[in-house]
Amino acid sequence: MNASGRVEDLNPNHIARQQFEEVIPYIHELVLSPGLAEWLFEPEQTVKVTLPIRCDNGEIEVFYGYRVLNSSVRGPGKGGIRFHPQVNEDEVRALAAWMTLKCALVDIPFGGAKGGVQVDPRTLSAHEKASITRRFIASLGSNIGPYTDIPAPDVYTDAQTMAWIFDTYSMMHPGQNNRPVVTGKPLELGGSLGRATATAQGALFVTERFVELGQVVGLSNLKGATVAIQGFGNAGRNAATLFDQAGATIVAVSDSQGGVFDPNGIEVSRIEEFKDRTGSVVGLDATKQLGHLEVLEVPCDILIPAALENQITAENAGRIDTQVIVEAANGPTTPAADRILFDKGIPVLPDILANAGGVVVSYYEWVQNIEDQQWDADEVHTKLRRKMYRATDKVVSALTEAGEHLDDTRSNWAATHPGEMIGHPNLRTAAYIVAVGRCARAASHRGIWP
Ligand code: NAD
Repeated sequence: MNASGRVEDLNPNHIARQQFEEVIPYIHELVLSPGLAEWLFEPEQTVKVTLPIRCDNGEIEVFYGYRVLNSSVRGPGKGGIRFHPQVNEDEVRALAAWMTLKCALVDIPFGGAKGGVQVDPRTLSAHEKASITRRFIASLGSNIGPYTDIPAPDVYTDAQTMAWIFDTYSMMHPGQNNRPVVTGKPLELGGSLGRATATAQGALFVTERFVELGQVVGLSNLKGATVAIQGFGNAGRNAATLFDQAGATIVAVSDSQGGVFDPNGIEVSRIEEFKDRTGSVVGLDATKQLGHLEVLEVPCDILIPAALENQITAENAGRIDTQVIVEAANGPTTPAADRILFDKGIPVLPDILANAGGVVVSYYEWVQNIEDQQWDADEVHTKLRRKMYRATDKVVSALTEAGEHLDDTRSNWAATHPGEMIGHPNLRTAAYIVAVGRCARAASHRGIWP
């Protein structure tokens, strides 16, 4: 239920559209041309493929895969491939739209795309997972390519999955440099140093900068700050390590089975050892056991959702007890929750900023692959920090500017849209103003072909 007693619409594509539409009044090009706004939001292409697989028990099972190219206005499509039972076309559309905006916000020359297969990978053997990956890539055919649409890892896919993608594409396109067709690869196949930790590293840089700018009440640096993390995979686990190394104290973590909490702090190496040995964080000695949503409500300075969409909703936003939320996951906060958090004075570093480190280092990998180079770890780290700091500064200044011109924005909009309210801008609005604005201006410069 939301604040007005209505059931919340949790369709990710509806949420992505709502977030996009909220910034139209701030962007001159879109106010003038509703058609341009429609073009920028709607996917350029949606592909659905049927994937028959012979399972290890000899039976044929059928899975469905999607690849959505949201926009190539600023460059080739870029976005991960997810294996999860909840995958559907609307989810992939939303994730693709967020990728377009993320790439625009951090100013790398990519558009946005996303892919997914509806499957529970925890029920698959390695052989079955490889078969699904290979059949998916073969079925996508020329819909992906080094200069058209470049996949990467996402939920329940990893460097090994990217290696199968590279191999499958290479077998279908012999005699050319295929390394830039996919990022997040193992180092031995042209992966970049720093890619495995890039999403969490980017989230740390964004948080560090935001705190340094004096934007978090009661926090002047990360030393001693308490952190709760939902999700303990690529984004969440690396965030635990990196925030710990930055001097913060991890007080709670969770995975798909549930969570654990200790207000005095939990040693990250202890969580990792336990998770690697048992398959879950649940049951870790000397911690309080939590349900997987309860981890979001523990008192902490920094809350990092690093699992899936729609975790902070109208139902639980009022109980969130933190100084700042850092969205390592895509789409963890619903629009109704955003409003509640804004009223509570809790800033939300939005996904298209907070988790953009992954795609930034994916871009570095792509460049290294095209140039046949291997940058050292320091170079990747320094370049990533500069990118993330610059994007954070840009979002903070866009928020100030949007606030200063809010009266003008409201009266201009009211002239053509009587009765339509414009809420107070938050950090997500600011990030969207920068990102959608860049896409709109790129589209305007290109014009419409033919
Ligand atoms: P992953 O597969 O490595 O890890 C996912 C984690 O979430 C696992 O620990 C799983 O147990 C946990 N999980 C699943 N359902 C859960 C639930 N209901 N409650 C709590 N935990 C749950 O995936 P990842 O790559 O870390 O992706 C996590 C999020 O980060 C996603 O939203 C993804 O889109 C986003 N993201 C990932 C990258 C990347 O480079 N991998 C980049 C940007 C954004």
